[in-house]
Amino acid sequence: MTEAWGPEDGGRRPGPVRIRVPAKINLHLGVGPLRPDGFHELTTVYHAVGLFDELRASHGDTLALTMEGEGQGELALDETNLVIRAARALAAHARVPAYARLHLRKSIPLAGGLAGGSADAAATLLACDALWGTGLSRDELAEIGAPLGSDIPFLLHGGTALGTGRGEVVSPILARPTSWHWVLAIAGDGLSTPEVYRELDRLRARGSAPAALDSADGLMSALRQRDPKVLAEALGNDLQAAAVSLRPELADVLKAGSDAGAVTGLVSGSGPTVVFLATDSGHAERLATALTSAGVCREARTARGPMPGARIT
Ligand code: ATP
Repeated sequence: MTEAWGPEDGGRRPGPVRIRVPAKINLHLGVGPLRPDGFHELTTVYHAVGLFDELRASHGDTLALTMEGEGQGELALDETNLVIRAARALAAHARVPAYARLHLRKSIPLAGGLAGGSADAAATLLACDALWGTGLSRDELAEIGAPLGSDIPFLLHGGTALGTGRGEVVSPILARPTSWHWVLAIAGDGLSTPEVYRELDRLRARGSAPAALDSADGLMSALRQRDPKVLAEALGNDLQAAAVSLRPELADVLKAGSDAGAVTGLVSGSGPTVVFLATDSGHAERLATALTSAGVCREARTARGPMPGARIT
């Protein structure tokens, strides 16, 4: 549901509106056949984790984006940026002028397999909806966002959820409240998601990709058991072999985590971030320290999940 603002101002906020939005990892990423529209059919279990981008939106007489943090100086702030595209899509849908001053504080690495761009687009939809008083529900915002990025509907909802279609059809998974402890090993350079999918297609065409994952049922039942060892057995990512094929150093990251005592590790989405499961917060801290001193990643960060999706703070 969209948070309501007072009736006295017709729902339009004087601003600024501040949003916090999490990164996502995929606990299960089953990649099916390539569809005629160029996307692969996916069955995925999304999980929102505690690494956040923040967006501040205020009124302005043009649409302008500034930023700080991850990707500063590298990420274009023009019409190609998903923040600008999301603001324009909402304005067109609601038939309001796309006027806002947007400032992004990014902690989610670029092209890291953590859906940072989709997270920023989800934050923008929620921020501009509140700023402009367009009063749309999260489901309506998700529909506007889905053509811009398959992970946007999930990042509006958060938690742990099943994604089907190309990932944009999201159904929440109701599990008993449990906090899982993760360590994210963040690489120095990103990986292009389309390239990783193309590599998987190549590996499959020559018969050298591991067998595709079957349904997410095993993962769903593992989530109900609250035991990290049981969850570890059920995690899987069909894109992992392709990411490792393009970036062989990821095998060293996975080994370093295993040597440091992680319950398990897997590539997040299309990589190159590798996520490790820990038993508790102390274990996660120790793992992060060990990964950093092994020198296999740019940075190792602890993060809990599940977290709520984009929220007004
Ligand atoms: P996914 O897991 O959804 O495939 P990712 O985490 O690997 O994504 P992102 O950081 O979401 O990668 O973005 C991939 C590309 O999208 C970037 O390299 C950049 O060119 C483009 N992009 C556009 N707007 C943004 C944004 N606000 N933040 C990050 N990337 C953006």
